[in-house]
Amino acid sequence: MRSNSFDKRITPGGENYLKVILELSSKGKVCSRDIAEILGVTKASVSGMTQKLKDEGYISKEKYGTVALTTKGIEEATEIQERYNILNSFFTRVLGVDKSTAAKDACFIEHIISSASIKKIDEQLKKFDYIKNQGGNMIIYGPIPSRRLGQSIGINNIPPKTCSYSCVYCQLGRTNKMQIKRQDFYQPEEIYKEIEVKIKQLETKNKKVDYLSFVPDGEPTLDINIGRTIKLLKNFNIKIAVITNASLLWMDEVKEDLMEADWISVSIDSVEENIWRKIDRPHKKLKYDDIINGIIEFSKIFKGTLVTETMMVKAMNDSDVCIEKIAEKIALIKPEKSYILVPTRPPAETCIERASLENLKRAVAIIRGVSGIDVECITGDEEDDGFFFTENIAEDILSIASVHPIREDIVDKILKKRDSHKNILLPLIDSNALVEYEYEGKKFYRRNLQK
Ligand code: SF4
Repeated sequence: MRSNSFDKRITPGGENYLKVILELSSKGKVCSRDIAEILGVTKASVSGMTQKLKDEGYISKEKYGTVALTTKGIEEATEIQERYNILNSFFTRVLGVDKSTAAKDACFIEHIISSASIKKIDEQLKKFDYIKNQGGNMIIYGPIPSRRLGQSIGINNIPPKTCSYSCVYCQLGRTNKMQIKRQDFYQPEEIYKEIEVKIKQLETKNKKVDYLSFVPDGEPTLDINIGRTIKLLKNFNIKIAVITNASLLWMDEVKEDLMEADWISVSIDSVEENIWRKIDRPHKKLKYDDIINGIIEFSKIFKGTLVTETMMVKAMNDSDVCIEKIAEKIALIKPEKSYILVPTRPPAETCIERASLENLKRAVAIIRGVSGIDVECITGDEEDDGFFFTENIAEDILSIASVHPIREDIVDKILKKRDSHKNILLPLIDSNALVEYEYEGKKFYRRNLQK
């Protein structure tokens, strides 16, 4: 946390203006009329305040009465939004305050809380997420079925939760170890041995695996050994997939490490720096231009299948303008396919919502039209079972729930398929090993990783 009203004396009113301008700029040009409408003030008030913000270097006034945030303004507005997110998440997730009260309180307190207090609250939130994730760090998990990769054994080559981003939609919660320095986590031989055991187990059941997939509790390329691990795993003659946020692809050694993978997915949530900062909340040393250029350069030399994925978040990156800009970059990357995803599980920030179906349809059409690339939208609603199981059904469900929250209807389907009943889960729920969540009106189960 950098500053607040106390520290810098920007007024709460000024902070609200910056927040609204940031919000509106994700949809295109920002004009006084829109600001006045959202804040419920007159155009004269907007004129007075925008002049003040301009004099203080937060915004610039552009042609036809529009305004834009300066770099200083983007930083300040992102900071205010961040304070709001921390408070809102703390109230709802840690304290259990209802959503609407939490939103109102966060909106009020964000202007008056000191930097020292918000820093402490953020630390508590991260501890809360860390405790939730701790203990569940299986290096190998699955196989898990997915639409894109069929049956894949997941490789968790990063301890939870170490990442170069702290995406607002991350289903793992906030990033507690933000870094861009690559390091040694696990030895390639250790991962190899675990996969060998898993494959042998599956062979006894005549089960086939389509992919070995690096989908860890963080950013997989932070693992300095990933290149060596991929080379070693090639001995299994199973295709290798890596799902990366691509934030380190500007580094030659990261490009080199990924060259032998068969299928790589890179994230492109926005190509506008302010929106990228808002959604992905990157490490402060990352520069967006380096990342997008790194992806484009990599796409020219990578021989495997490259796909992009864009998480569509309501009112953040789902405007036509934002999508068109993403599509222009996708046209340069020329991936095999461009995937559009939506947050389907409880996200890091409770205020995050998925883009509407109408906006998703438009996004598909825009990306396809501008880039000429095949686009597929995965909403998670089509998720099906197909997990491989042992004889212990409850343990199987617990194992899946420790990797990611699992929706109630999927649990029901699994139980039905195996002639079982939800009663078998009661001891796990009673002992708090399996926790029930609600998200977008649907129930989810997640393993309590403190148990
Ligand atoms: S890049 Fe992935 S792991 Fe990292 S914060 Fe974003 S969604 Fe979570």
